[in-house]
Amino acid sequence: MAKIPINLKEGSIQEDDVIVGIDLGTTNSLVAYVKDGEPVAVKENGKHTLVPSIIHFDREGAVQVGDLARKQLLDAPERTIYSVKRLMGKSYQDVSDQRNYFSYQIIDDDREGLVKIRVDNRFYNPIELSSFILKELKARIERAIGTSIQKAVITVPAYFNDAQRQATRDAGKLAGLDVLRIVNEPTAASLAYGLNRVDSRETIAVYDLGGGTFDISILRIEGGIFEVLATHGDTYLGGDDFDRAIADLWLHKQGLESEQLNPEQKQAIRILAEDAKKHLSTQEYFEERFNNKQVAISRSEFEALIDPFIEKTLKSCRKALEDAGLSISEIDHVVMVGGSTRIPRVKEAVSDLFGQAVNDQLDPDEVVALGAAIQADILAGNQKDLLLLDVTPLSLGIETIGGLMDVIVPRNSKVPGSVARNYTTSVDGQKNLKIAVYQGERDLVEHNRKLGEFVLSDLPPMAAGIPKIEVKFLLNADGILKVSATELRSNKEQQIEIRSAYGLSEEEMAQMLLDSIEHAQEDMAVKALRESINEANHILRSTDRFIEQNKEHFSRDLLDELSNYREALSQAIQSADKNLIEKSMQELNEFATPLAHQAMDMTILEAMKDRKV
Ligand code: AMP
Repeated sequence: MAKIPINLKEGSIQEDDVIVGIDLGTTNSLVAYVKDGEPVAVKENGKHTLVPSIIHFDREGAVQVGDLARKQLLDAPERTIYSVKRLMGKSYQDVSDQRNYFSYQIIDDDREGLVKIRVDNRFYNPIELSSFILKELKARIERAIGTSIQKAVITVPAYFNDAQRQATRDAGKLAGLDVLRIVNEPTAASLAYGLNRVDSRETIAVYDLGGGTFDISILRIEGGIFEVLATHGDTYLGGDDFDRAIADLWLHKQGLESEQLNPEQKQAIRILAEDAKKHLSTQEYFEERFNNKQVAISRSEFEALIDPFIEKTLKSCRKALEDAGLSISEIDHVVMVGGSTRIPRVKEAVSDLFGQAVNDQLDPDEVVALGAAIQADILAGNQKDLLLLDVTPLSLGIETIGGLMDVIVPRNSKVPGSVARNYTTSVDGQKNLKIAVYQGERDLVEHNRKLGEFVLSDLPPMAAGIPKIEVKFLLNADGILKVSATELRSNKEQQIEIRSAYGLSEEEMAQMLLDSIEHAQEDMAVKALRESINEANHILRSTDRFIEQNKEHFSRDLLDELSNYREALSQAIQSADKNLIEKSMQELNEFATPLAHQAMDMTILEAMKDRKV
């Protein structure tokens, strides 16, 4: 049954569903929606828009999320969960070497392989924990706009793999949200800056420096289609490192080590250091008291402290450009995301590297959520002139004779979409046809990834080449692939459904693309050889048929000579020497063609004999 949204404030029926955009971040999360054509981030009581991505459980198991939970970090670290995003879609093994980073208990439950978090005697998985944050965001926006919300677009880092995207989608479901799309964060940020004009081709660098993570993504937008060309980054680099550097500097000046402080003092100096850092984004000098002593830092001192961290991010940028095969001058826009990009030194360094002013007019904490809201609005059909499509990251195709990959949906095709192509059989009376579906860029299927296969069976007996088999690939917006095969003369049909588009990790995908470039020449040679062999086998079969059907028409000697040419070609196939195969094919053809013409003439004459004119 369809739900009818009612505006509780006005009592009116809301005709269009509001679809919200959610930035589910490592440190902070927020929700935005399009209001009167403009994206806005939701504020609670007119205050800030960010909800700390922190969940606290009290002794009875009651949940608090956001600012309230954050206050518990110090008093109840074992019952206060932060950075859940780092655990999404991960197994215990994936995160075991990062255990020291978490102050709460991570459990290895090998039955499912996925990490679990233990709080008192209860166990939670990262999907459930993220759903608490999403529920809080849902409640926030429902309070703010007075309507119930069912649909959302949620953003994830561009490098998230299938498991991580699926976990995010499931968290949405658990929070009572229908997740219409999972969108890449850099794509959302570019959308917020309106860099998705359908009529142009732009290359964009999205520099995202948050509290605990750094990402650089290089995107290409063409005809409204976003493609991630490269990503790079550091999952443990961000504003928290700057806070720590300031705190260490102050402690050092007081002759203290961080280990000598009690937890309260540690927390206090960390908070003070963060205040100093933020202050220095607009002022030249910061001064306060800590431990009854004065602590101070100037902007130039701060810049000297963070320069090594900034240099690390620039190195990642250069690496991403290299991976994308682009030079700095090919970047049309640079977009700044994340709270730490408020620091003037960061902006300056990034702008110097790319040789252009950066896009920093929007709030760097809100820009991803604002972009997600725009994407949501496009999906709601409210922005008819905007087009936003995802693309297939790798080509999809089927195996044809000789183990060759026949691409049906090329890499970077728009989804949703469908493509059909006709095939036929290679053997007389063939009853079954196997359709094996592959993903990848290499010419031979053995180097690509098999997604599935099925058999089109019980074909009525027909000569080779007569059946008309339509193979159709249908890709929906969620990356679910349906492949069907229909023999059009007999209407026999078979189909399978394959979940494919997100089935590979970013690294696997990048590796497959790299391999295809690296092996291009070698692949081409093998492909050409296999094509020659296919053609030669076809000629051998035709020759056999010809000899069989024309025993009466030609002398024994002529047919023997034809058999010799046939044998030479058969030997050439064995030798796997492409030139020899082509030469033998040519010789056989030259000898056989006049015979075929004669045979045809004789057949016509025979047919004419019986006809009375
Ligand atoms: P995010 O993870 O994107 O929410 O970014 C949070 C990080 O941005 C934290 O390290 C904050 O301390 C930092 N941040 C927020 N505001 C400022 C500011 N005005 N100047 C410098 N850093 C800031």
